[in-house]
Amino acid sequence: MMRKARGSLFIVSAPSGAGKTTLCQQLTSFLPDIRQSVSFTTRPPRRGEVNDKDYTFIGEEEFRKLIADGEFLEWAKVHGNLYGTSRSRLEKLREEGNDAILDIDIQGARQVRAADGHGVSIFILPPSLSVLRARLASRMSNSPEEIELRMNRAKEEIMEYKNYDYVIVNKVFGEALERLKAVVIAERSRADRVDPEWMRNIMQ
Ligand code: 5GP
Repeated sequence: MMRKARGSLFIVSAPSGAGKTTLCQQLTSFLPDIRQSVSFTTRPPRRGEVNDKDYTFIGEEEFRKLIADGEFLEWAKVHGNLYGTSRSRLEKLREEGNDAILDIDIQGARQVRAADGHGVSIFILPPSLSVLRARLASRMSNSPEEIELRMNRAKEEIMEYKNYDYVIVNKVFGEALERLKAVVIAERSRADRVDPEWMRNIMQ
């Protein structure tokens, strides 16, 4: 394979309701060798969520123990619950040659950027705040208070866009997905991703 055995790291953040989760899911089903790292959270599972697939759902005590054990590359409190990226799971994914995507909030992204200078970060924007509000309202599980909370948070989060490498506006889903794929494909073509062993072979 042309690429080095160890995969790249992609960090994807967005305000709640921008469509990040679906974009990341579609990305991993359309492109080979790219996986999402399963995070740990203290949030209770939503209907249809599967343990160890969507998240690993644990209690706060267990979460605090994992922090103390140094298991998290980053962790943060988001909407009142704790979320963390497992260092060992992420390492395993990348060692197996997969690129890894972290779907994490802006606080987590800051920590990963500081810890892993090689990560590529992508910020997903909604086309406007009114579209974001409409999307949040159409999610049956969101109460009016929760929508206000998420809208206020979104306004603060959006200002973080400048700290990311790429910005993608999710207006037309298919187009946003194409852009996301383009970022990953471009990253895979970087000269420093070329496996020197592969290079030696083609030079013979
Ligand atoms: P949800 O509970 O809706 O699945 O996710 C809420 C927020 O937590 C999203 O912005 C998501 O990106 C973020 N999140 C999910 N996993 C992690 C994680 O491991 N670390 C951090 N910092 N944020 C996470």
